[in-house]
Amino acid sequence: MKIQRLLRKNIKTLKAYSAKEIPCRVKLDANESPYGFPSFLEPLKDIQTNQYPDPEARELRRAVAKRWRLRAGQILTGNGSDELISYLITTFGGPVLFPTPTFSMYGITAQALGEERIAVPLDSAFDLDTEKMLNTIRKYRPKLIFLSSPNNPTGNCFSTGRILKIINASRGIVVIDEAYQPFSSRRGMLKVLKDYENVTIMRTLSKVGFAALRVGLLLGREDLIEAVNRVRLPFNVNTLSQAVAVEAIKNFGEIEKTLRIICSERGRLFDGLLSMEGITPYPSEANFILFKVRNAPAVYRKLLSKGVLVRHMGTALKDCLRVTVGRPEDNGVFLETLSKVIGK
Ligand code: PMP
Repeated sequence: MKIQRLLRKNIKTLKAYSAKEIPCRVKLDANESPYGFPSFLEPLKDIQTNQYPDPEARELRRAVAKRWRLRAGQILTGNGSDELISYLITTFGGPVLFPTPTFSMYGITAQALGEERIAVPLDSAFDLDTEKMLNTIRKYRPKLIFLSSPNNPTGNCFSTGRILKIINASRGIVVIDEAYQPFSSRRGMLKVLKDYENVTIMRTLSKVGFAALRVGLLLGREDLIEAVNRVRLPFNVNTLSQAVAVEAIKNFGEIEKTLRIICSERGRLFDGLLSMEGITPYPSEANFILFKVRNAPAVYRKLLSKGVLVRHMGTALKDCLRVTVGRPEDNGVFLETLSKVIGK
C-alpha cells in the first residue's frame, strides 16, 4: 500500500501503544485509582472556554512548587508524563537506555523519534543489573536513561545505591519516573536533585485519581527544565486540567486518604494471592501487583469472561498478569473469581 511506502523507516516497524477499551465489570488493568474527586471540579464553572490556556501553567506550577519546596522554574507540566517522555527524547536525543521489563513508552517514543534504544534486562530480583548497566553506559554513552521506580510492571523500587551508581556513571540525563511513588513506603529521589546536574524526576497525577486530566510533571534543575521547555507545544495542558490539578495539589491531604486505603488493600490482595496454590505474587510498592500463574493467557481470558479485566503482560513477562488495586469490593470479586478460575 502506498502509505506504507511513505512512512519513515523507524515508523514502519513501530507498534502503537495498545490501550484497548475492553468491556468488563471490574476494571483492574490500567493502574488507575478507583477513587475520583468530583468536589475538585468546582473551579471549572468559572472557566472561559474562548481563551487559550495559560501557556506556562503558572498557578499549577506555583502549587506544585509549594508542595515539593521547589522553585516554579524547576517544574515543567506535560499532557501526562507520556508527553514529557517525548519532550525529553526530542530535547536530548538518543541512545535511550532503559531496563526491561519496564514502561513501554520509553522504547516506543524513542523509536518514533528515530533514536537508538538500548534495553538492559533487570536482574532476577527485578533490581537494576548494575554491572550490565554500567558496561552499557560506558559502551553506548546514552543521552537519556529512564528508570521507573517503583517500576511498572514489576512493582518494586530499584535500590537507591544502584540508581546512584548509574547517575554517577552517566554523562547523559537520568530520568527517574516516579509515577507510582505516592504508593511507596520508601522516600522518593527528589532529594538528589540538588546534588546532581544530570537527574530529573517525573511525577503524574494519573495514578492518584486524575488520569482523565492528563497532567504530568517534570522536576529538575532550572537549566534542564528551560531546555526541555524549548520543545514544548504551546498550550499543552488545557485550562480545565490546569484548574482541577491546582485544586488537587492544594488539597493533597484528601488524596492521601485514598492512598492509604489503596496501600492497605494492596496488602490484602497480596496475602490473598499468596494463599492461592500455583500463584506467586511479587511484592509491590505501587498500586498494582504482578503475579506469576501457570498458563497466564488462559487465566486472563477466563477472568475476562467473568467480567474481571487485568493486564496480560505478554511475552515481556512470561506467565505473568498484573492486577491494579481497586475498591475493596472489586478486589474481593477479583480474588474470588481468580480462585475459581484456577480451580483451587
Ligand atoms: N510512567 C509510568 C511508569 C507509567 O506506568 C505510566 C502510565 N502507565 C506513565 C508514566 C504515564 O503516565 P501519564 O498518565 O502521566 O502519561
